[in-house]
Amino acid sequence: MGGTPRPLRAVGAAAGFLLGRQSAPPCGVCKGKGFQACKLCRGSSTVEWSPLYDPIAISPCLCPTCDGRKIQRCLNCIGKGYF
Ligand SMILES: [Zn+2]
Ligand SMILES: [Zn+2]
Repeated sequence: MGGTPRPLRAVGAAAGFLLGRQSAPPCGVCKGKGFQACKLCRGSSTVEWSPLYDPIAISPCLCPTCDGRKIQRCLNCIGKGYF
């Protein structure tokens, strides 16, 4: 503890964030949503994966990238939705 309390600085930063970022262009990849369709499973939430590389053993597995949520954080804007 000790030193200058930080809440005031945090509020100022938040206000500057809101005012200064209002004209920030939205991310074109995710259209400002901050996420995009999972590229690995292409929105199906599962991937065909074979532990033995045997076509007969291929079975759908829960997508490890999105954990079945079908979306992944936009890599272009790192999930913020804008630049
Ligand atoms: Zn996925
Ligand atoms: Zn994006």
